[in-house]
Amino acid sequence: MEPIHVIGGGLAGTEATWQIAQAGVPVVLHEMRPERKSPAHHSEHLAELVCSNSFGAQASDRAAGLLHEELRQLGSVVIGKADYHQVPAGGALAVDRGHFSADLTSTLAQHPLIELRREEVQTIPADGIAVITTGPLTSDALSLALQDFTGQAYMSFFDAASPIIVGESINREIAFMASRYDRGEAAYLNCPLNREQYLHFWQQLCAAEQAELKDFERETAKFLKRAYRSKRWPAGGKTPCAMAR
Ligand SMILES: Cc1cc2nc3c(=O)[nH]c(=O)nc-3n(C[C@H](O)[C@H](O)[C@H](O)COP(=O)(O)OP(=O)(O)OC[C@H]3O[C@@H](n4cnc5c(N)ncnc54)[C@H](O)[C@@H]3O)c2cc1C
Repeated sequence: MEPIHVIGGGLAGTEATWQIAQAGVPVVLHEMRPERKSPAHHSEHLAELVCSNSFGAQASDRAAGLLHEELRQLGSVVIGKADYHQVPAGGALAVDRGHFSADLTSTLAQHPLIELRREEVQTIPADGIAVITTGPLTSDALSLALQDFTGQAYMSFFDAASPIIVGESINREIAFMASRYDRGEAAYLNCPLNREQYLHFWQQLCAAEQAELKDFERETAKFLKRAYRSKRWPAGGKTPCAMAR
């Protein structure tokens, strides 16, 4: 049987690969890392979480929780490993990101019907079935090929990665553990500030050294700045202080 090709080993590609293989069909998963890294991924593992380690609310009467439950019932490998590598996060399903991705990588590597090829795919395969799951940071060459194929201009995607703080650097005599919105166990670190401290923090934050924009972020940042200045900022949109200046 001809294998199906899945291009991109993020969350979507990892799940697609697993489901195809579990259905008894051979599958080749093409992942460009570690040879080529995206501007946001850091590791060589499949299904790397590029920012938050949270999959959202757990309760099945919430949208995210309902999706988790449906995925469990469909035998999702991603949600199965998320459950296994869960860390306390109140009402949310959050994971130990390193162990989660490493476990998914070795689980897929051990599947007899899955072949993992570490390579960038630059064109859409002409023959056979290909599933393209290269996400918002699809490599430039494949982005162009997709543009040609669909005849569409790029779609927009803008996001930011949260900073990760070393746990030991936090003074636990000041910060304290508590639940989020009074739901679930005390799993979040809270930093109490009085009004004066808060205003000082805000000023320091807005005056702080700013991270260098990556190339792919420059045009979007210019667009957002123009939209904000011309008062066409989307209703309800949050304005980072860097943009407001
Ligand atoms: C800076 C940033 C912050 C984000 N923060 C969050 C967040 O906090 N919460 C959230 O839910 N979502 C967040 N997102 C969105 C996040 O990308 C998606 O939720 C999730 O990663 C999408 O999964 P995916 O499988 O579609 O893509 P990805 O996880 O990005 O996986 C795509 C994979 O394809 C590979 N690839 C790309 N091009 C090629 C190619 N040509 N050949 C072979 N392999 C290729 C990449 O290396 C990558 O492994 C963020 C995105 C960015 C960029």
